[in-house]
Amino acid sequence: MALPASLDIAIVGAGVAGLAAAIALSRGGHRVAVFERFDTPRPLGSGLMIQPGGLAALGRLGLRTEIERRGHRIDRLHGMTGGGRTVFDVAYADLDAALYAVGIHRAALHGVLWDAFTACGASLETGAEVRATQPASGARAALEMSSGRRSGSFDLIIDASGSNSMLRGQVTARKPRPFAYGAVWTTVEDIGIAPGCLAQRYVAARIMMGYLPVGTIDGQGPPLAALFWSLKPETYSPWRDGFTDWRDEAERLWPECGPLLSRLGGPEDFTLAAYSHFLAPVFRSGSLVLIGDSAHATSPQLGQGGNQGLIDAVALADALRASQSIDEALAAYERRRRTQIRFYQAASALLTAFFQSDSASLASLRDLLFHRMRHVPYLRREMVRTLAGLKTGLFASAGPDAIAGRDGNV
Ligand SMILES: Cc1cc2nc3c(=O)[nH]c(=O)nc-3n(C[C@H](O)[C@H](O)[C@H](O)COP(=O)(O)OP(=O)(O)OC[C@H]3O[C@@H](n4cnc5c(N)ncnc54)[C@H](O)[C@@H]3O)c2cc1C
Repeated sequence: MALPASLDIAIVGAGVAGLAAAIALSRGGHRVAVFERFDTPRPLGSGLMIQPGGLAALGRLGLRTEIERRGHRIDRLHGMTGGGRTVFDVAYADLDAALYAVGIHRAALHGVLWDAFTACGASLETGAEVRATQPASGARAALEMSSGRRSGSFDLIIDASGSNSMLRGQVTARKPRPFAYGAVWTTVEDIGIAPGCLAQRYVAARIMMGYLPVGTIDGQGPPLAALFWSLKPETYSPWRDGFTDWRDEAERLWPECGPLLSRLGGPEDFTLAAYSHFLAPVFRSGSLVLIGDSAHATSPQLGQGGNQGLIDAVALADALRASQSIDEALAAYERRRRTQIRFYQAASALLTAFFQSDSASLASLRDLLFHRMRHVPYLRREMVRTLAGLKTGLFASAGPDAIAGRDGNV
């Protein structure tokens, strides 16, 4: 039986993946209702990097130009130890002169998605924390809120509620595994110490300090950068208490950041982010499907989570357009996304151990090998492909347009 041209679709979560899916599916002619737990949907945290595949997905939503206008083009990733030894120095142009990423403030990404969302015709219910789905008539399902209220019924429910999803327990019993290290993040004025570059400094794998230019929030005003420092969530309280000492330590590690560090008001300028690792063994059950961090959360070591969520959103819209039934569409979505996601989950977890762990031997191995790998052309290209989000398996890769789909605008 052919899929009705217009389905009733509920999306849980108005984050990166949820908003992108709402835009793509509403434009595809479906009746979309988004449910968000916050009273006002808002981005949390500082900046992130959108890789070429995520930019291609934003291009299919017609949003890439605005993202690039607000963000800061990133051509290179550079990391060195406090002692001045280069650990890696990778340029996207080592693979293809046309490739680059964009550093963007979370509020800018949210703002661009939000403007497109409010124009796409989808409805939004805020203050609606969804805790489960319930069977309704036929194959339809309804949402059950934490307040006990029940929604109307839907043909399809998309869980885009992020890494702490309350719904994915209906798809899998697997639980997220917390990483030992998280990070504190803040937004600072971009003082131009790393133009076109995500720059990092390391002390073994215990300390990682990073600086990512992210452009502006709305295309105006002074350019901004995200500043981050890795730490274990349980050491957050002592870090706050010893903020002045920390500031001295950070300045010793990265003297060029001195002017920024001296302007910081205190620990309250930072947001703590804890990371967990989770990959759903399957992405769907009945009419419930997982996208974004709800399906696959990890540490931001490879800066892929937001990208993969954007690609999930357009891939799901493509699958619904090309299928005869919801079941067929969800199977096609899962087939298209699974291999790439599996690769990036494994790669992120592996690299996290080299950059954010207590292992002195892994840090030494990293300092010895990573930069040398750059001199082997095949390995250099593989490093760029991995960072650029272009790997589709251990020995496979594709261009950004192929990864985000070639079916034209959504
Ligand atoms: C410090 C840090 C740095 C990062 N850097 C990068 C980077 O450089 N590049 C990159 O691509 N990714 C990066 N990521 C990862 C990226 O931020 C996430 O992968 C991405 O935000 C996931 O999007 P999402 O839409 O799946 O989930 P979220 O963005 O988390 O959105 C989930 C939404 O669902 C809502 N919600 C949650 N539960 C419920 C509920 N029960 N009912 C209703 N609504 C609910 C939430 O309020 C939220 O609005 C980083 C992450 C962190 C923490």
